[in-house]
Amino acid sequence: MIWNERMECMSPEELKNIQSERLRETVKYVYEQCWYYKKKLQANDIKPESIKDIDDIKKLPFTTKDDMRDSYPFGLFSAGLNNIVEIHVSSGTTGNPTVVGYTKEDIKLWSEVMARALGCAGAKPGDMIQIAYGYGLFTGGLGFHYGAMEMGLTILPVSAGQTKRQLKLMYDFKPRILGCTPSYCLYMAEEAKEMGMDPKKSSWEIGSFGAEPWSESMRREIEATWNMMALDVYGLSEITGPGVAHECEHKQGLHIFWDVFYPEVINSKTGKPVEEGKEGELVITTLTKKGIPLLRYRTRDIVSIDYKKCKCGRTSPRISKITGRTDDMIIVRGINVFPSQIEHVLLGIEGTKPHYQLIVDRKAGELDELEILVEVEQKFFSDEIKGLRAIEQKITKELESILGIFVRVRLVEPKTLERSEGGKAKRVVDKRVI
Ligand SMILES: [Zn+2]
Repeated sequence: MIWNERMECMSPEELKNIQSERLRETVKYVYEQCWYYKKKLQANDIKPESIKDIDDIKKLPFTTKDDMRDSYPFGLFSAGLNNIVEIHVSSGTTGNPTVVGYTKEDIKLWSEVMARALGCAGAKPGDMIQIAYGYGLFTGGLGFHYGAMEMGLTILPVSAGQTKRQLKLMYDFKPRILGCTPSYCLYMAEEAKEMGMDPKKSSWEIGSFGAEPWSESMRREIEATWNMMALDVYGLSEITGPGVAHECEHKQGLHIFWDVFYPEVINSKTGKPVEEGKEGELVITTLTKKGIPLLRYRTRDIVSIDYKKCKCGRTSPRISKITGRTDDMIIVRGINVFPSQIEHVLLGIEGTKPHYQLIVDRKAGELDELEILVEVEQKFFSDEIKGLRAIEQKITKELESILGIFVRVRLVEPKTLERSEGGKAKRVVDKRVI
């Protein structure tokens, strides 16, 4: 189902006029309403009149996470607090958290794009959706809630956690759609088996998974375990929360709703656009937001964009699954390591679970060391030690061939590692003092 056929299937040429008009309005709006942007634009010699059409977007300065922190809490808001109806806050790894505010129109916009996202997933009015993303300051739960409400779904707002309860409600109420983080979905499968339930007999036909990067192999694992279709949703609170882009059933990238969230892909070092189809950092400009519109926001997510029309009929371009982050990545001995690479290797090895943790450490006078803790099935611990050794060697060898560095592998029993109860799994522990 295509929720907004006009906007999602419009020819790019026709849409360009709308994007241009919206960009002009947004630049004028932030220039007049937000002192922080006014200063920033003036420092770059930009006046509202400097922006004629969407191609002029390249003249605008980037907005970064640092801008959000420096203007904490409300300095980047263009609307006054009296017009803000909701605030979300995401935890920063260092310093101030990131604060975003929504006007009533922004909530309407969020509902609309999230309804489009659910449409991409294959939801239709009347379906029941189980929302197992956290409700609260995190945007996951409420974003899905607004979109589901807009589309007219029956909402089961369980929020994250309470896994036994989630499972009971699923088997009793039979929701067709599930929304949660991909790692939580796999975690629930373990619980279901322990409770004597068969994940293959679940009522979920479609899952909309996001809030953490995940690989194609993890998709196959989820689909086989639960007998459902697993699709990727993309969003970030700075831009709106979930609902920025979503995969359709063809699984050829995530349709980004570019009449409202205009995407660019840049080389993160030079800031220049990459060649069409090449990987780089995703940059997004919000074209219709009022509370906290952002110009050229650097997401730090690494993607490529495919502008060809999709088989589903939508004309909006598709961003690739996130292959890494410019900041989440760890650098060990000059090598860039993405948790998703590790995950990919583990899923290809029999007996391992997609539960792992990377530990980077540095001892005085020594090279950085990368250690990985991996959970393996219980049976290997009761078997002869040979079996464990064989898995360990296999993982070591494959990681070495992919990363080009030695990785110490430590196998641990199931459920040893910290689990995400609907939040993000802690994949990386960096103990280095840098
Ligand atoms: Zn499509």
